[in-house]
Amino acid sequence: MTKVQKAILDTVIQSGEHLSADQVYWRVKKQFPSIALGTIYRNLHQFADSKLIRRVARADAADYFEGNILPHDHALCIRCGQMRDIVIPNLKDFLRGQMCCEIISVDLTVNYICPECAHKEAEESDCEHDEAAQYKDKNDKGD
Ligand SMILES: [Zn+2]
Ligand SMILES: [Zn+2]
Repeated sequence: MTKVQKAILDTVIQSGEHLSADQVYWRVKKQFPSIALGTIYRNLHQFADSKLIRRVARADAADYFEGNILPHDHALCIRCGQMRDIVIPNLKDFLRGQMCCEIISVDLTVNYICPECAHKEAEESDCEHDEAAQYKDKNDKGD
């Protein structure tokens, strides 16, 4: 493995995140400024094919790559695109029971709004309430 290949692999594994090829590119570029996006793509797919990392396909966006190669499913925030791992115990057994046939694989993504985004949205819709509170504060201090 070349130094560049190792940097690409380490970037994905050490991040502990789900990264698009673009995100990997910008991180590896700091270390190897002349690297091409094509090199990143080629190596990421190669690593995924040899099961060193996992490729997570997304319906309407670029694939994600991650270092966690243990079986797990995903929750995807529809606001910020951040993906987190979820493990649903006995999911395959459950599906097998429902469908009465052998399940080859499960590719499950739960779409949700992450706590950070939910918090931000709650704050935004709370704006009027906040202004009223500030007004009240001012009045209290004037006392
Ligand atoms: Zn989010
Ligand atoms: Zn994952």
